[in-house]
Amino acid sequence: MGTVEKELTMILAEMDPLYDNDTSFFADANCKGMPADKFFIEPRTPQQHILIAEAKKICGLCPVRKRCLEFALNNYIHHGI
Ligand code: SF4
Repeated sequence: MGTVEKELTMILAEMDPLYDNDTSFFADANCKGMPADKFFIEPRTPQQHILIAEAKKICGLCPVRKRCLEFALNNYIHHGI
């Protein structure tokens, strides 16, 4: 797994149909350039729950979080923070 941008690109490439392909919001994302495995975590162990809490702090301060949520909902992306 690479950066969040790379993971997002891979997810979008696999989607058919793609309902919302406007990823311009990502230019201002707090997670830009961060490792994707920080934001796509399965909550199975206490350590993974700690990592999810850390990611939620980053998302909580993200200036584009509303658009990010809208994008995920529009495209039925159900995994990730
Ligand atoms: S809300 Fe979180 S996952 Fe979405 S763009 Fe912002 S930092 Fe990234």
